[in-house]
Amino acid sequence: MTLREGAEQSRAVGKLQALVRLPTVSHRDPDLVDTAAFDAFLVELETQFPLLHRHLDLTRVHTHGLLFHWRGASDARPVVLMAHLDVVPVEGEWQHPPFSGAIADGSIWGRGTLDDKGCLVGICEAVETLLEAGHTPAQDVWLSFGCDEEVFGHAAPLAVDELRRRGVRPWFVLDEGGAIASEAFPGVGAPIGVIGVTEKGITSVELRAEGRGGHASTPARNGPVARVARAVTRLEKAPLPASLPAPTIELFRRLAPHAPLPLRPLMANAERLRPALTRVLLAAGPETAAMTRTTVAVTTLSGSPALNVIAATAKAGVNMRLMVGDTVEEVLAHVRRTVGRGVEVDVVESSEASPVSPYSTTDGRGGHGSVDEAFALLEDTITEVFPDAVPAPYVMMAATDARHFTAICERVYRFAPFRMTKQQRESIHSYDEHIGVEAFLDGVDWYRRLLERLP
Ligand SMILES: [Zn+2]
Repeated sequence: MTLREGAEQSRAVGKLQALVRLPTVSHRDPDLVDTAAFDAFLVELETQFPLLHRHLDLTRVHTHGLLFHWRGASDARPVVLMAHLDVVPVEGEWQHPPFSGAIADGSIWGRGTLDDKGCLVGICEAVETLLEAGHTPAQDVWLSFGCDEEVFGHAAPLAVDELRRRGVRPWFVLDEGGAIASEAFPGVGAPIGVIGVTEKGITSVELRAEGRGGHASTPARNGPVARVARAVTRLEKAPLPASLPAPTIELFRRLAPHAPLPLRPLMANAERLRPALTRVLLAAGPETAAMTRTTVAVTTLSGSPALNVIAATAKAGVNMRLMVGDTVEEVLAHVRRTVGRGVEVDVVESSEASPVSPYSTTDGRGGHGSVDEAFALLEDTITEVFPDAVPAPYVMMAATDARHFTAICERVYRFAPFRMTKQQRESIHSYDEHIGVEAFLDGVDWYRRLLERLP
């Protein structure tokens, strides 16, 4: 950890506080968006990062998305750093008001400190300090900041269109996702620097059954509600097949030396022991089970609006997270087959799991396998700034804007350079979201080192 000047420390922290105070909550319905908060955010961003705004070319994307271009010594291997400026609504009881940016117990508190204003300010502060030092990056650097990531909005796909129009083929793209995660794996003491190399896809359907409806005093057998209910229980009883994707095998290999002794051989030989490991993960709980397969969750349910009326239509919403290796087509076929006759399957949204970005591998015995230069750059920068962390690839369970960039880039990585405890990771999209002051400043250092190290 570097020894920091008090002024430098309070400067970066003050910027994050100022931007957390602006409630940039996104909504699927544009009429519900507080556009004044987003306008104020862009003004505040320019106030806090004057050099960045003076030296980088800015393209506005969609309503409040930003695409900055920092010209490097070469444009042969451009790099895209991503973040988003919108946040999810507030819920739960907070120890400190969610838009206060309060500093307490060595942390900065507020909605967005981890997701994702920490990354946004971290990137901007790294660029600002490098500009102050007169630095020119070795490669072109693009900063893509979305304004509607939390509602699966348009800014990121439009930024991709803009880059494509300009003929930019990024060498790698880095977005939020993984972290320097402590307490991430039972028995592993070291924090894990997890870098997402793929993310699950999201597909949602509505199961729908229709009937005559009518008065509740004269029910017929096998009505819409009964058919939807049967479909739901059938789905629950027919999970999709489980397996371990290659990045998870590599994650286990890297964790093996840090795991409890009895687990080491199992993890080091994850490749060979795939079926056994898969069973262990399935049995260990819903979080680990989700690492092994496409998940199917029934979320919404609707039938009749009145107690004495039989539903003419019954519906159940089903949200599926597609594991890399499964396709939307296969999963939909599975759902249709499983629910059987008398229930329609209407597709609401569908996206495939993202392709797996290249990563470096180990041989499972502590030696090297293959090396990917871009992935290795992230790994080495992690080791430099977080010497106690074990960098590793993993499959991300949640969705990020990064998935859109797979259309123009082979290497899309998801990693936020911040130390996060289990409790902090759980606070994302929940209550009491906060980032450690030191953790935040380490993150700024990490982005700066990454930019300095571009080959
Ligand atoms: Zn986010």
